[in-house]
Amino acid sequence: TTTLRLILGDQLNPLHSWFAEVRAEVVYVLMEVRQETDYVHHHAQKIIAIFAGMRAMARQLEQGGHRVHYLRIDDAANLQSIPANIDALLAHYGASGFEYQEPDEYRLDVQLADYAAQLKVPGTMAGSEHFLTARGEAGRIFANRAQWLMEYFYRQMRLVHGVLVEPGGKPAGGQWNFDHDNRKPWRGTPPEPFDTRAQHDHSALWASIEAAGVGSFGRPDAVRIVWPQDRAEALTHLDAFIDHGLPHFGHYQDAMHTTATRLFHSMLPFALNTKMLHPREVIAEAEHAWRAGRAPLHAVEGFIRQILGWREYVRGVYWANMPGYERHNVFGHDTPLPSWFWDGKTKMRCLGHAIGQSLDDAHAHHIQRLMIIGNFALLAGLDPHHVHEWYLGVYVDAVEWVEMPNTIGMSQFADGGLLATKPYVSSAAYIDRMSDYCKGCHYDKKARLGETACPFNALYWDFFERNAERLSGNQRLGMVYRNLFKMNDGARAACASQAASVRARLEEL
Ligand code: FAD
Ligand code: SF4
Repeated sequence: TTTLRLILGDQLNPLHSWFAEVRAEVVYVLMEVRQETDYVHHHAQKIIAIFAGMRAMARQLEQGGHRVHYLRIDDAANLQSIPANIDALLAHYGASGFEYQEPDEYRLDVQLADYAAQLKVPGTMAGSEHFLTARGEAGRIFANRAQWLMEYFYRQMRLVHGVLVEPGGKPAGGQWNFDHDNRKPWRGTPPEPFDTRAQHDHSALWASIEAAGVGSFGRPDAVRIVWPQDRAEALTHLDAFIDHGLPHFGHYQDAMHTTATRLFHSMLPFALNTKMLHPREVIAEAEHAWRAGRAPLHAVEGFIRQILGWREYVRGVYWANMPGYERHNVFGHDTPLPSWFWDGKTKMRCLGHAIGQSLDDAHAHHIQRLMIIGNFALLAGLDPHHVHEWYLGVYVDAVEWVEMPNTIGMSQFADGGLLATKPYVSSAAYIDRMSDYCKGCHYDKKARLGETACPFNALYWDFFERNAERLSGNQRLGMVYRNLFKMNDGARAACASQAASVRARLEEL
């Protein structure tokens, strides 16, 4: 008798124990379905890259002798939803069991658990064998603590997993955190590493996605997709990053530049989030590079903090707060996204670049996501749920468990500080210090008032003014509020009316 095993589009790990032996009674099922392309409006490259990865995985399994049933998006037998397709395949194979791997999205977790529960044959969930922590682990760590804190979680992880620790549990280099070394602007040197990623022509796949009527946005660029389609490519890219990007990752982690969109970032989250790579091997390679003298400690620690710290931590926040986390909106923001979120056409050079790059490449690095796009969205009072849907759609690496806490929590502070200790917002001064965006911008980075004043400036002070009751007691914002309270009433009122006028003409900015 046959057992069906479902592999989701973000479960492309060929090293999963499922595949350790070839079993004639097991049929692996992969399906390209409208259910998954349509739950939010997606960037074209995200759809192409995931389907291409699924197709490559199916080929690899077949070459390894496994039985595979693959449903393409334009397959006549495709019923376009996971339960409907599984029902049909259970009948087709006369199968006596259904298995799936632990989904990472709440939506799919509920759907598949409900589906499995009502089946007449046994339906069972296997682990995904991907993360370093279980779903509820961060929740347990913080169960008896007043506040969730990434730094506390991260240090626990360093100790538990023996990463960058010396005998006796001391942190390598005597410090847990080298953040203060990692805030340099980039002025053209060292040069951005050459982009060694293989390019793929997926125009036939793209044509079939379009023919199936799947809606999307962003530049498809289907003839030169750079996202890895299998583990071997992801490993090659990881090695190139460790050799050429990692040594400079630390210093320029927060830098932004119009001529270098990748800088020294890894571009690995697509491979990680689709499980082509395991976080443990990425962390181990980075630590090894430091121990072998090939990358400085501040860079390696900064990089490992993102994966062992932030990535696992936000997953913990997600599972501790679902369902319902997506609806947090403590500031009551309800402004729709201006139309330039969909075409990048704004006179604000920073947003034009960060959004334009997101639409072109389906990627922007962390500081662009946080301190340009998210910063503006929060200051302008955009609806956090709409902001979340935009982020979930636009980035190739966007899977809800990681995107939602980053957007709703870290970037929009819509959860009131469950995840982050303060809202991440700034005026033009920070953006100017960390990028070359302000040079040549239509707006004046120094001005607070007037038609051509940088919109960030008045919005910034007005945000803290409007939310003084909620935020002025926050220790990390002491300096901001001291400066705000030093301004005279006239200056504060002028900021408020300038901010109101900016908010009234978001579309024209
Ligand atoms: P690097 O800068 O090289 O970082 C290394 C790795 O660390 C990444 O591959 C990623 O896996 C991990 N990482 C870094 N920061 C974070 C973080 N804050 N949370 C979780 N993992 C992290 N990351 C996603 O993977 N998917 C998302 O949908 C996503 N949405 C985001 C939305 C917002 C509003 C913000 C502020 C951040 C978001 N991030 C998301 C986190 C982070 O911005 C991206 O992982 C990062 O920009 C990817 O750039 P990079 O290519 O090279 O990673
Ligand atoms: Fe952005 Fe303001 Fe700088 Fe223009 S001046 S790039 S709008 S921060």
